[in-house]
Amino acid sequence: MPVKQIPGHEIHFTGEPAEAYREQPLAFKWPRSLMHYHTYGLLSPFFEGLKLGILRATKCPTKGCETGLWLPPRADCPDCHARMDWVDLKNPVIGEVFTFTHVEYPGHGIELSYPYYQIDVKIPGCCTVMKGYLVRGTARIGMKVRAGFRTEAPTNTIFDLFWESAE
Ligand SMILES: [Zn+2]
Repeated sequence: MPVKQIPGHEIHFTGEPAEAYREQPLAFKWPRSLMHYHTYGLLSPFFEGLKLGILRATKCPTKGCETGLWLPPRADCPDCHARMDWVDLKNPVIGEVFTFTHVEYPGHGIELSYPYYQIDVKIPGCCTVMKGYLVRGTARIGMKVRAGFRTEAPTNTIFDLFWESAE
């Protein structure tokens, strides 16, 4: 389908010119960045909770289905597909490091200073293990950790939840 031309309207370049930095092969610095519009959709209560200092899990309402809490939350039960109920965990939320990784060089999109410890946290009452990061100190398996929240200057991302030693 041809693009409809608006009479008297000339198309012009609105971007920033790319600057060459090498001739053979021709290569340019790419000054573009993308604005990504994203919705948390049915998981919005989880992220709203982080800003309030509340860790929210989901629970399946179906009798005979999984009785544990899901963290990270699921909008719908992976087992029976029912819409999940929200449950606010009581503070302090104390979990245990199930396993961990020392991250020397994180991939693109990890907006944390590094190196840091990425930890998998087993939270009592949950049927899942949740990934997170240790805000300070050295991780070890079995370490008791407490959930912390960036309520003062929230990022509106998963990084608003962090873990610190509870020992
Ligand atoms: Zn279910």
